Amino acid sequence: MSSRSIGLDESLYEYFLSVSLREPEVLARLREETASMPRAGMQISPEQGQLMRLLIELLGARRALEVGVFTGYSALSVALALPADGRLIACDVDEDYTAVARRYWQAAGVDDRIELRLAPAVETLDALVAEGRSGEFDFAFIDADKANYLGYYERCLELVRRGGLVVIDNTLWQGRVIDVTDESDETEAVRLLNRVLRDDDRVTLSMLPVGDGLTLARKR
Ligand code: SAH
Ligand code: CA
Repeated sequence: MSSRSIGLDESLYEYFLSVSLREPEVLARLREETASMPRAGMQISPEQGQLMRLLIELLGARRALEVGVFTGYSALSVALALPADGRLIACDVDEDYTAVARRYWQAAGVDDRIELRLAPAVETLDALVAEGRSGEFDFAFIDADKANYLGYYERCLELVRRGGLVVIDNTLWQGRVIDVTDESDETEAVRLLNRVLRDDDRVTLSMLPVGDGLTLARKR
């Protein structure tokens, strides 16, 4: 019967959350505040945050990277799962969104684990490589501007250790990847990255129909 992934309608999704979601209160409050903001749909779903916390635990991660912070939900999910001496370098360009993020990181008591770098993420990642930090990270989450996705992937793969994980969001791109009339830079960039990942022997691959498509690539 289950030769492919099941689709979740509203009531099955509610059931799914009711028997599986364990969302810390501070994350629930952040989600509520973000919901009233424009572009709230950019935030990852709570079950995705929970999956990322599990991945951090499985990896025993201590050093993490994030590309695309917004109001900080994914970064806070990761930071909460890191050990007390763990560190997350979080990249974004937007002062207003990340001001909300900082407020919640502080409220959660994990602001000392998160270093926010406000600059185009390509610059921040290149600087980390130039500082000799290649192979230092256990985990990277890519969720910023899609046109740069391949560039983010290559840099994050360089920065994670062997056995480390690069996680890429929005790889199904709300179905736009299969809309032949959509030739926008962003959609083409997601398509290109998906093809590169499919053929990339440097990683062990799994693409999950979670949220808007979540691709896991483990560095070999
Ligand atoms: N992971 C977030 C959602 C990120 S939304 C969450 O769970 O809520 C995408 C973010 O990418 C936005 O905050 C945007 O400011 C940021 N962004 C866009 N272009 C960027 C760039 N060139 N460098 C770094 N961040 C960028
Ligand atoms: Ca996203």
